[in-house]
Amino acid sequence: MKIILLGTPGGGKGTQAKLICDYLKIPHISTGDIFRSKVKDGDALALEIEDYTQKGKLVPDYITISLIEDRLKKEDCANGFLLDGFPRNENQAEALDLILNKQNEHIDRVFLIDVPEAAILDRLAGRRVCPKCGESYHIKYNPPKIEGKCDICGTDLVHRSDDQEEIILDRLAIYKETTKPILDFYNEKGILHKIKGDDGINDIFNRIRKILDADG
Ligand SMILES: [Zn+2]
Repeated sequence: MKIILLGTPGGGKGTQAKLICDYLKIPHISTGDIFRSKVKDGDALALEIEDYTQKGKLVPDYITISLIEDRLKKEDCANGFLLDGFPRNENQAEALDLILNKQNEHIDRVFLIDVPEAAILDRLAGRRVCPKCGESYHIKYNPPKIEGKCDICGTDLVHRSDDQEEIILDRLAIYKETTKPILDFYNEKGILHKIKGDDGINDIFNRIRKILDADG
């Protein structure tokens, strides 16, 4: 099963991604992880990516697309995958189609986790992330075992400066604008599912699971 998971930043998408991947036993492919792992290579491309991400800029499409294409060729993707954070615009969605078409493959399902703005503000204000491994937490909904420390690597968690209200609202507006064409693109193919995402983690996952189970 080849899945794309879309959702407003801070809408609990990462948690659902993990649940879906555990359930279907498919790899979770996020552009954030791909960039972090590429940066460790230390080559020219790594330095370029580091420069973009440190300045808070988007990595250009041609780089992102080629990294995704390489990642999808890996053996663990043979039975499917879940893409998280990609595609983030129409150009990337079209490129992904071309990559898959070359192998006579296609995306099976696209899930949009739909969360109202007020709920997102609440979630992001309480969000804490690990600067070392990228794991994220929420002081109310998903607290670490030891306050302020990452469960996985023990690093001090941080409240990112871009998790502040004004910046969040800006980001949401930009997100809506760039996501609209992607939603239209997959809606026309009949594979887009809007999932109500403003309640508990398990309620949201059950809605997704019903659709996955119906596919057999
Ligand atoms: Zn960590």
